[in-house]
Amino acid sequence: MNPKLLRGLKRLADYKSESRRLSKQIARIVTLLVGCSLICAAVFVATPPVASMPQASGSAPSVPRHAAIVATTVAILKETSEIRELAILRPVKSGAQSRSEIERMIVRNLDEQTTPVEMHATELALKKLGLAPPEFEYRSFVVKLLTEQVAGYYDPKAQRFYLADWIDLEGQKPVMAHELTHALQDQHFNLSRFEKWPKGDSDAELAAHALIEGDATLAMTLYMAKNPLVALAFIRSLGSSNMATEQFSQAPRAIRESLVFPYEQGSEWATRVYKQGGWAAVSQAFAKLPQSSEQILHPEKYFAYEVPVKVALPDVRPLLGVGWKRLDYDVNGEWSLYLILDQFLNASAESRRAVAGWAGDRYALYEGSKPGEALIVQLTAWDTQSDAREFFDAYAKRTWRRYPKAEATEITSTGDKKPANAAAQSPVRERHEWQTTEGRVVLELQGSRVLIMEGIPENVDAKALVKASWQ
Ligand SMILES: [Zn+2]
Repeated sequence: MNPKLLRGLKRLADYKSESRRLSKQIARIVTLLVGCSLICAAVFVATPPVASMPQASGSAPSVPRHAAIVATTVAILKETSEIRELAILRPVKSGAQSRSEIERMIVRNLDEQTTPVEMHATELALKKLGLAPPEFEYRSFVVKLLTEQVAGYYDPKAQRFYLADWIDLEGQKPVMAHELTHALQDQHFNLSRFEKWPKGDSDAELAAHALIEGDATLAMTLYMAKNPLVALAFIRSLGSSNMATEQFSQAPRAIRESLVFPYEQGSEWATRVYKQGGWAAVSQAFAKLPQSSEQILHPEKYFAYEVPVKVALPDVRPLLGVGWKRLDYDVNGEWSLYLILDQFLNASAESRRAVAGWAGDRYALYEGSKPGEALIVQLTAWDTQSDAREFFDAYAKRTWRRYPKAEATEITSTGDKKPANAAAQSPVRERHEWQTTEGRVVLELQGSRVLIMEGIPENVDAKALVKASWQ
């Protein structure tokens, strides 16, 4: 689930603070480029624990190092500008920051971009969907993760590029090419307009980030292709660096994969766009933004500009009783629905098939007054009835897997037992209901839509709730 879930992460993790995961991804690309499996094998050797990392001095970087960064920035900016076919409109300021400075920046940005209520909503949604364990503490985890990951970042507000001062400069040139692509994007397409994304459409926000990161990752890949020796130094620096990946590898899968999405799927998407129309087409995408993770996963849907269906959900608080709050109202999109399914199906190809044909969705998260009391409602729309049926069946399987001891209180299918005189076009309607340890779960299929409710409290009229949600 990407929702606000990843609101904080998405904003921080991409063009504002680059990271190890990026480096890992690039290392994979480099692997292909240089075709040197031996060296790359060394890259993926386990890195030392965090405790062995050099302590940040907290003081300003030394003058020679600073001068070196400035000179390298000028040179790489020029080369990146030629590769990316975007003119340098003004010089880019650069500098190095210590670990403690970068940590402060991360916490400040996190607090600026994400309110405590949003953080709480994200944590609750992750737990309610079984994507994170009950004891999971989202905010402290995010801070640790991002601090561990950061290697450099471009700050659109200050229009300045920073490199972590504990990382070898020569080996970081590809990261600089990536960051400086962001600086060029900013000069031409204004990145700060992506900072305050309107609430309620996290999936479109994720797609925009996939464009920004995919573009920069592709430019970096081409930079490395032109500079194989730098690419090798980069791989070596990854292998010998003290950068830890402990937090990242311990992250719940949904968080980990959502973090990687803008880089991995984003660069695949950017490559497709680039192959079709060169850098001009990639630049054009900043005026005609990809609208959904679906368009990123299936570039042909971007080319055809298949716009998502807007799905609305009524506010069901009046049916829930006193003390219930609605914490979130957002779009999951194809990518997050895939992660939600696959958390329990654990069959990537099957889950991918089940979410293909996504047309639109909306979810709402409610919290009750009792600790841990939460209800999540998801209404999903599909291109065809058979796409909806496929998702419905997969979600039922997920629910069985998640609650193996749950009692199925109702399974109805009016689709198969249609009376002979039923109107031929009457939509298929099916329903599953379970009693779980975490409230009732209802899953309904109606035509090309699927409704999911998880966590319906005992004292609430489930039928009325379902009926209201279909309105
Ligand atoms: Zn980036």
